[in-house]
This record gives sequence, structure tokens and C-alpha cells, in this order.
Amino acid sequence: MNHARILLVEDEPNLRRTLTDLLRSDGYLVESSGDGVEGQELATKNPFDLIILDVMLPSRDGFEVCRCLRENGVNAPVLMLTARNELNNKVQGFKAGSDDYLTKPFETPELEARIEALLRRASRGARNQLKSYDFDGIHVDFARSELTKNGKSTALGEREARLLRYLIERKGTILSRDELLQEVWGYKSIPLTRTVDVHIAWLRQKIEDDPKNPRHIVTVHGQGYRFGR
Ligand code: CA
Repeated sequence: MNHARILLVEDEPNLRRTLTDLLRSDGYLVESSGDGVEGQELATKNPFDLIILDVMLPSRDGFEVCRCLRENGVNAPVLMLTARNELNNKVQGFKAGSDDYLTKPFETPELEARIEALLRRASRGARNQLKSYDFDGIHVDFARSELTKNGKSTALGEREARLLRYLIERKGTILSRDELLQEVWGYKSIPLTRTVDVHIAWLRQKIEDDPKNPRHIVTVHGQGYRFGR
């Protein structure tokens, strides 16, 4: 049985009910909403493995919902449902950060196949991520978001853990603030913010013997940050 969690945001009651029943019978855990703003809230507050988003929705359309989710760092794959006559939808959907789309009306085996493919791709991505890392007497457990230094454990915030993993996975490479904001925070356009520097400072407090003279997370003046030499 597949216990992946799916959020369905679709405002046509019959279609919502039919798809919910179908996906539940496939073994998925399904929550649904018929409203854009409510759907976005559900997706932000709960860890879904996949989100199915209709384009035409009350209160906020699917593109806007998708864009907001990506800006808030929600990375679950998004499958957009578009009507046949909405020609520009495909392009718009990808710009908004969706992963795939399906044109209405569709056959349910087609939907099921798309869902399986998206979930497979997402879990492959997750498996390839670094689970833990050891350096200079420090152990980082990414699964538990925990860092142990000199036998003392410290919790890492979710964003701190993602930032540290991103730096370590690319050690020796200079990473710009813009890249970090896009890849770790999920921003599509780059806001003016000190958030990267603030999170780097927090990580240094936890990692470095002397945070003012960091040896592990190094500042490369005018360019960004680098993990290691
Ligand atoms: Ca609709």
C-alpha cells in the first residue's frame, strides 16, 4: 500500500469527491479543499507528498497558490489541472513552479500514472540527500536536525539544517547569497534581505570554535560563502 499524503484542491464538488475516492482506494491519504486560500493554508501547515491544484479556483487561482507555496519553501511536487481552452496554462504553470499538468477532461489512469511518476521522482531526490556528516569532531544528523560538538547536542532549525546541508554537499564551492536564497529558501525572485547572513551567523555559533574567525563556513568577500577550504 502507498501511504503518500496528497492534497487535492479542486472546487467542482463532484470531481473532488470522485478523485478523493479514487485516490483513497489507491491507498493514498487524501485531504481536499475547494478553495485557493484554504488549500494554500493546508499545504503550508501540513507535510504533503504531492499537491494537485486546479487552476480556476475561488478566492485565489492555482498559479498564484503554487507561486506562494514555492516562495514559502513548500517543495512538494505540484500537478496542475487545467481546462482544455486555457491555452497559456502550461507555460504559466511551469513559471509558477508546478511540476506537471493535466488537461481536463482526463482519464483517471492517466492521473494515477502522473501521480506515481511525480512521487517516484520526489522520493529519489530525497534519498540522494545527505543524511549525516562528520567533520572536525562534529557530527551532523540531518534526519534529526541535530548537531553534536564535543559531546554536546544542539538542535538545528529547519532552515539552518537545509542551509548547512546545501553548503556541505557543495563543499569547496563558493555559493552566492542569491543562489542560497533560490535553492535553500525557494525564492524565485531575489528579495533584499539579510536572512542568509543571519542564518550563517547562527550556524557559526554552533559549529565554529571562534565564530568571529570561522574555519568551516568561510566568507568569500563580495562573492558569498563556502564550506571548507
Ligand atoms: Ca475549477
